[in-house]
Amino acid sequence: MEQIKNQSLLSFLSEPDCHTLKVTNPATMDVLGYVKTTTSEQLCDMIETAHLAQKSWASLTAKERAAKLNHWFQLIIENQDDLARLMTLEQGKPFAEAKGEVLYGASFIEWFAEEGKRAYGDSIPGHTSDRRIITIKQPVGVACAITPWNFPIAMITRKAAPALAAGCSFIVKPSELTPLSALATAQLAYQAGIPKEVLQVVCSSNAKSIGDTFTHHPLIRKLSFTGSTRVGKLLMAQCADTVKRTSMELGGNAPFIVFDDADIDSAVQGAIASKFRNAGQTCVCANRFYVHSKVHDEFVLKFRAAVAGLKIGNGLEDGVALGPMINQAAKDKVDNIIQYACEQGATLITEQKQHDGLFVSPAILVDVEQHMDIVQEEIFGPVAPILRFNSDEELIEMANDTPYGLASYFYSQNINRIWNVAEALDYGMVGINEGIISTEVAPFGGVKESGIGREGAKQGLDEYLDIKYMCFGGI
Ligand code: ADP
Repeated sequence: MEQIKNQSLLSFLSEPDCHTLKVTNPATMDVLGYVKTTTSEQLCDMIETAHLAQKSWASLTAKERAAKLNHWFQLIIENQDDLARLMTLEQGKPFAEAKGEVLYGASFIEWFAEEGKRAYGDSIPGHTSDRRIITIKQPVGVACAITPWNFPIAMITRKAAPALAAGCSFIVKPSELTPLSALATAQLAYQAGIPKEVLQVVCSSNAKSIGDTFTHHPLIRKLSFTGSTRVGKLLMAQCADTVKRTSMELGGNAPFIVFDDADIDSAVQGAIASKFRNAGQTCVCANRFYVHSKVHDEFVLKFRAAVAGLKIGNGLEDGVALGPMINQAAKDKVDNIIQYACEQGATLITEQKQHDGLFVSPAILVDVEQHMDIVQEEIFGPVAPILRFNSDEELIEMANDTPYGLASYFYSQNINRIWNVAEALDYGMVGINEGIISTEVAPFGGVKESGIGREGAKQGLDEYLDIKYMCFGGI
């Protein structure tokens, strides 16, 4: 941790005891440090505190809240390198990618600082001549979030920024694997003048107990979750008891489609970016590739050549494109997926080196069929299964043949096909001749079992606002 220049970012680090969580570097397995954990009883006190603090936070003007959010944004930008280094240390992604995530994470704060000023209501013509109707938008109250390890900062700011901008107080439980980035980012919020009672971070190795407290506590009015579909379903069910609002950003099974009229070089570039970012550990990573038979061999040849150039290693080393898997279970899962696909008839066309530690060589599989497990499940690793198709109809059927509906991608130069295919894909997001689509200005989210709600964009603020309708009579 000596690499972190601004050591005040790490003031939360603690001596190990039975109430601390150990954080490990997945690239080296070194212990990075320990952070204090929170019990359910302590969390209940924190929720009460957040409830009280929310009233005065909401009583500030949107402009006053924006000033503090903008200051937070500035401090994150000033500490970009340190935050990125910390992220690479605890999460493993290459330093350049981590720097990109810090900027991306900060962008939500800048965006929602402004959007908070535009939480407009409506004026509605009355339904009788003596009545007038207006609506206002008000913060839902105390909002909480549970976030994953693959984007340790951005998945937090994407929720915290709209919550705070809307006038909510906010409590987040980061993944037990990546609490350092979360705590360091929160330190900067406090330095920016955001009250500690309004933005709180809880760390725990008992995610279930924190989740139970969040979902059953009557003062929590909103839960925003990013993680697996399995846990998202559990949390949604638990939230039903107190009818909380929920936003769910869950698993994906993104198709990446290359039509015979595609620009193949551009498709290869997009495929590399979409598939191997974060070593394939994102919910919007291309999960299965459909390539038209006419261009299949050309695409495979060029894709394999590009993959051969990807350097694997510790994300702090220069030029590394692929860091480690997050833990042993993740590595085992990916190794098994490759092995099982080959047993089912797929052909591995890349060299799978056996690495020490949690590294996995990027893999390309051809002769893949729609029914195979590798096509049906979320891989979450650097493995690219390639299928062939011959007609648009057959393609759409295969692409939509999944319970998931988060991101999808396709490459084509034909404008009619582009419209038809984009409309036919049952996904919340479609990248057209583009492999990287996340931005704070666009609504991120899925359909089907990939979730509900949208993050970012103007829609992201509404997730933390209730609409109140007022009817003025006797006018
Ligand atoms: P992933 O497979 O990406 O780790 P998970 O859904 O397991 O996805 O984890 C995402 C977040 O959900 C993490 O912060 C994790 O600690 C938390 N989590 C896991 N299980 C539960 C649970 N039963 N209740 C509440 N939160 C949980």
